[in-house]
Amino acid sequence: MSYGFDTLQIHAGARPDPATGARQTPIYQTTAYVFRDADHAAALFNLQEVGNIYSRLTNPTVSVLAERVATLEGGVGAVCCSSGHAAQILALFPLMGPGRNVVASTRLYGGTVTQFSQTIKRFGWSAKFVDFDDLDAVKAAIDDDTRAVFCESVANPGGYITDLDAVAAVADEAGLPLIVDNTSATPYLCRPIEHGATLVVHSATKYLTGNGTVTGGVVVDSGRFDWSASDKFPSLSAPEPAYHGLKFHETFGPLAYTFHGIAIGLRDLGMTMNPQGAHYTLMGIETLSLRMARHVENAVKVATWLETDPRVTTVTYAGLPSSPYHDRVARICPKGAGGLFTFGVKGGYDACVKLVDNLEIFSHVANLGDTRSLIIHPASTTHRQLTAEQQKAASAGPEVVRVSIGIEDADDLIADLDQALTKATA
Ligand SMILES: *Cc1c(COP(=O)(O)O)cnc(C)c1O
Repeated sequence: MSYGFDTLQIHAGARPDPATGARQTPIYQTTAYVFRDADHAAALFNLQEVGNIYSRLTNPTVSVLAERVATLEGGVGAVCCSSGHAAQILALFPLMGPGRNVVASTRLYGGTVTQFSQTIKRFGWSAKFVDFDDLDAVKAAIDDDTRAVFCESVANPGGYITDLDAVAAVADEAGLPLIVDNTSATPYLCRPIEHGATLVVHSATKYLTGNGTVTGGVVVDSGRFDWSASDKFPSLSAPEPAYHGLKFHETFGPLAYTFHGIAIGLRDLGMTMNPQGAHYTLMGIETLSLRMARHVENAVKVATWLETDPRVTTVTYAGLPSSPYHDRVARICPKGAGGLFTFGVKGGYDACVKLVDNLEIFSHVANLGDTRSLIIHPASTTHRQLTAEQQKAASAGPEVVRVSIGIEDADDLIADLDQALTKATA
């Protein structure tokens, strides 16, 4: 029996608690789990039997969340971790090594640009940033040391939709996995695996939890990539010394990447999600479709209003018919282009700062995907570390503000923007 999204967002991965009958998934606030006997313990440590050992690796509450997100994304397995940024490192970890590179879109969350252009160099990894609308440039950037292709579905700070099918075809031809950050879209709006993605990463901090309460991340595996087709992915295809020469792909088949993410990734990098955080995210996901539909409905209303306002120079919402990416919405994210977009304000940097300071409902925060409407001026905050050129490529120039439209009354949001724009452009 195959269930619809609304059913799965409530039930996938969960069952009444076998110990107590508790209907809601309990928060298993425990570090360790008692072994039945010494043989059981040995089997668990050898990965011959699946079970809980220690909560750095697995925890029953966190496992329900992993199964739920994997199901909603149409993947075979998932690993939850401590933040979206942790998810990105955890996703790349089995693929990369010193001297290896990832070919990444220029249109990414500002923190990801910094993580990829600066911090991963400490591991000997590097990133090559390319305009993913230029498929020849993506092809040209791929070299013998490339181990992954990385992009966002609906890209932060909004207004851009990646042609996932086209990019997946390029990655596939090169024998490389495509990793898609699906944070801004969520599986309700976009299912990257259906468009050829190998792996999907999430910041659960955003729409999945939905109300700005936790930081969390998830890595979902499609289970479709053949890690043994080349010698490029020895962590998955070659003997693993830390497990007596076990070969993950040969042993675990489509679940190899997920098992590696837990048994090596979480075990040794330790960027684990805690059960309390998983609980909040599970609560959030139960209403994901309802919230996302409202985020989209409100974003369309607010963007449509802004577009006709003379104080506004541009609105980059892919859900508007005027967007150059409007055609991709129907194909890539048919239920809507999300709740995130940018707009330009007449008066540039100074007017943007005044706008942000004069809003009453919108909160000035470095977050997105909250029930509340949020605003930020990327050039003075999230994208501050980037060069002027990188800011422009990420549609985060000095005259641009980014909004994350919440699920309040759209009329109230419009009225709030109206009064603050008046003050900002006076
Ligand atoms: C927030 C965000 C991240 C990073 O997630 P954290 O949970 O803050 O670490 C990565 N990608 C996108 C698209 C995001 O919005």
